[in-house]
Amino acid sequence: MKLILLGAPGAGKGTQATRIAEKYGVIHISTGDIFRANIKGGTEIGKLAKSYIDAGKLVPDSLTCDIVKDRLEKDDVKAGYLLDGFPRSLYQAEELSKFADIDLCLNFEVDTALIMDRICGRRVCACGESYHVSTLGGKTTCAKCGGELYQREDDNPETVKARLDTYNVMTAPLIAYYAAQNKLATVVCGTKTPDEVFEAVCEVLDKLD
Ligand code: AMP
Repeated sequence: MKLILLGAPGAGKGTQATRIAEKYGVIHISTGDIFRANIKGGTEIGKLAKSYIDAGKLVPDSLTCDIVKDRLEKDDVKAGYLLDGFPRSLYQAEELSKFADIDLCLNFEVDTALIMDRICGRRVCACGESYHVSTLGGKTTCAKCGGELYQREDDNPETVKARLDTYNVMTAPLIAYYAAQNKLATVVCGTKTPDEVFEAVCEVLDKLD
């Protein structure tokens, strides 16, 4: 199973990706996580990516595509993978088609009015879990692994606004791109809980298996 997860920032892609990877035994590849790990490690890639991420812009296509291409050459992805946050532009999608044959693009449709609160209230754990402050009751550690929760640097109103603009201009055209290839399935998130969204996701993916 080779999947793409598409959706605006805050659509819940990361949460669903963790669950899909667990249930279907596919490798979760998040370009955002790769960039954040590089920033933390102080690498050249991290230094370059940081200025774009802080501004809510896309890291240059060529660098991003090279990272994904290298990652997809590793043995562990042979049984399947899901790309979370890649491709994010038509150029990236075209490049991807040269080195990967994707089965399905899962598009998470969210109400953009909800996104600002969702993202600015988001607290994440290094293990991949994420929470909303309103549900934490003052807790600062992850219920799954006990790790310390933190707020991503780019989860602030100004950067979120820029990320949404970037999504609308650069990434949203991918919906039509994959629909034209009959490779698109849309999950409408609305006010659904993560469990309910995951149920809808499984309905789609079980037909693929
Ligand atoms: P994410 O964790 O997916 O929300 O990504 C965080 C940030 O990393 C984005 O706002 C971009 O600046 C950068 N990024 C992640 N994936 C990509 C990509 N496929 N192309 C370009 N930039 C990306």
